[in-house]
Amino acid sequence: MRASERGTRVAHRVSEADAARIARFRPASGMDTPRFSGVASFMRLPVRDPAGADGVEIGIVGIPFDGATTNRPGARLGPRGLREASTGTRSVNHATGIAPYALAACADLGDVAVNPVDAGETCRRIEAFFRALTAVGIVPLAVGGDHLVTYPVLRALGRDRPLGLVHIDAHSDTDDAQYGGSRLTHGTPFRRAVEDGVLDPGRCVQIGIRGSMDCADERDWACAQGIRIVTMEEAAGRGMPEVAAEARAIVGGGPTYLSFDIDALDPAYAPGTGTPEIGGLTTREALTLLRSLRGLDLVGADLVEVAPPLDPSGLTALTGGQIAFEILCLLADAAATRRAAASSIDHTVEKR
Ligand code: MN
Ligand code: MN
Repeated sequence: MRASERGTRVAHRVSEADAARIARFRPASGMDTPRFSGVASFMRLPVRDPAGADGVEIGIVGIPFDGATTNRPGARLGPRGLREASTGTRSVNHATGIAPYALAACADLGDVAVNPVDAGETCRRIEAFFRALTAVGIVPLAVGGDHLVTYPVLRALGRDRPLGLVHIDAHSDTDDAQYGGSRLTHGTPFRRAVEDGVLDPGRCVQIGIRGSMDCADERDWACAQGIRIVTMEEAAGRGMPEVAAEARAIVGGGPTYLSFDIDALDPAYAPGTGTPEIGGLTTREALTLLRSLRGLDLVGADLVEVAPPLDPSGLTALTGGQIAFEILCLLADAAATRRAAASSIDHTVEKR
């Protein structure tokens, strides 16, 4: 263990046995082999088939599907681009001190086998894939793909009890239907998830919402369900720590999902996305917001709508890779907290 990770380990009381298991899933070190070498995986983590993922606690999964995009396509290449771009991320969060690879066993679990020309079939495949992960206790970090992919992930994770949601996006994605009545587009996932009972709308908060709408129904329906919408204008006025504090209060201590659409960021920072909206978050604001969400009981998360072909500079993928690391830090911290709580409960039972 590196000296920089020792404090985190003690804080979360990672047992010796857990530490040995977790150590088998360390990313390849940039000190042993250069970061530009080798086969690119998310964060240079080991690649495991989901069926052979014994011991994995957090699985990063690519979902290369953008067939539900209503504007400019390209997010199907998000997982490829983010595997490459995320190889530059290291192992300790300098701001929070979280060392995710010392706290939880993480792996790249490959991609869901999507059908690029059939959204319904793709949703069924995604849901089955993530149900299999949750059945063995793996917490997923999904990498899209367009935002429709969040819907089947939520169906898998929220099957037994509705989840809370922190949703960072320029768009509410609570449209009813688009394009001749299509109910499965990247503008509809959160409406479908609330309708299916896998999200608890009273524990949902959307941050960064802005721009023009096709119809006010998207916003009005969400508000009528009890979803809290923090517009970009309100968020900028109040500041990220205050917005994060409200979000934490809304979702409370229950199981919560985090969904990050890269178009929440201003196009100056992330131009490579299908539906850019000006006047968005700076990357610095996004980092503050995410780091201020530490402590949530996160049971899954995603990063969606990175479309590398729309940004030949590579900036959007670079930004996405580093945002994914920040999200992974939150997931690992939550997983370690749950593990420590479970072991202290076990210990109490043993004493009796
Ligand atoms: Mn979205
Ligand atoms: Mn969006």
